[in-house]
Amino acid sequence: MDFFSDNSVGASPRVMAAIAAANDGSLSSYGKDDWTQRVEERFAALFEHEVSVFLVLTGTAANALALASITRPWGAILAHQEAHVCEDECGAPEFFSDGAKLVDLPGVGAKLTPGTVTEALTHLRAGDFHQVQAQALTITQATECGTVYAPAEIAALKQAATPRGLKLHMDGARFANALVTLGCTPAEMTWKAGVDVLSFGGTKNGALAAEAVIFFDPAHAEEMKWRRKRAGQTLSKGRLLGAQFEGLLADDHWLDLARHANTQAKRLADAVAKGSQARLAWPCQANEVFLVLPPATQQRLKAAGIGYYDWSPRSLPTEAPLKDGEILGRFVMSFATKPEDVERAIATIAG
Ligand SMILES: *Cc1c(COP(=O)(O)O)cnc(C)c1O
Repeated sequence: MDFFSDNSVGASPRVMAAIAAANDGSLSSYGKDDWTQRVEERFAALFEHEVSVFLVLTGTAANALALASITRPWGAILAHQEAHVCEDECGAPEFFSDGAKLVDLPGVGAKLTPGTVTEALTHLRAGDFHQVQAQALTITQATECGTVYAPAEIAALKQAATPRGLKLHMDGARFANALVTLGCTPAEMTWKAGVDVLSFGGTKNGALAAEAVIFFDPAHAEEMKWRRKRAGQTLSKGRLLGAQFEGLLADDHWLDLARHANTQAKRLADAVAKGSQARLAWPCQANEVFLVLPPATQQRLKAAGIGYYDWSPRSLPTEAPLKDGEILGRFVMSFATKPEDVERAIATIAG
């Protein structure tokens, strides 16, 4: 039994069925097929806005290409220090932007605040040719710590970045999980709050391998057709990607999948909060639970064969650091997490 990540499981059966259906017949290649065209229309309706959509295979490609589209090589991209773009993309954002610099910033629960952004901007002098120029701010929704930004918080971050004209990117690898928690519309969580470009996650939500880069201003999308092809992310059998999103988005399947994952996470979080030797590092707001685990609890989990990641404690509140022998454990739930597995984890942690 493992709670390592929401990409340890395969795809939702509905996504697999859509892929199988898209396998039939002869269709235009390179994303000009009906499946991909329909998905673009679905995204426009979903976001209640004109959108330029580019489907890719990985989240790293989505983030790196999205950021490259809104920065110049001498640009700076402000990000949380635990952000996937800083920690888990092997320099892809720097590479695909031809050298833009990631500026990593701290924040409890992997969240940035307007104050942190404003402070960082004072150290990046506008117009000084000795320095990189602040051009983009990227946030993750839900964050790497399973917390979420409310629309008003996103708007406040954009406001802090606006005097310097920064564009706002959202890494939405867990977009659906954040959305069902907040209960707002996709529009409220993005362009209405100032997001310029979004990496819309499919894979962790239940696709096999599909992510979408969504621009809310077609001007920013101008270069993307070349960038995506240059990065080897323009699939000739583009229907493969279109079909995956069709399978996810039809009948709000993507929201049902995210709701299941979040519900399982909340069960574990609530059980721990009720009284246990383990404690919640911060509130569980999506499909991930972060628990401070004393040594005895770690041993019980190990003996029971329950897998989780030993996570960096950097984003813990300074007033609640780890004590001797404690670790921060990350438990991730997916659309396929079995309730009985969560029960067993709860019982094991309770001791
Ligand atoms: C999983 C994940 C991604 C995508 O990663 P790939 O392995 O490149 O598909 C992007 N951002 C976040 C926050 C993630 O958790």
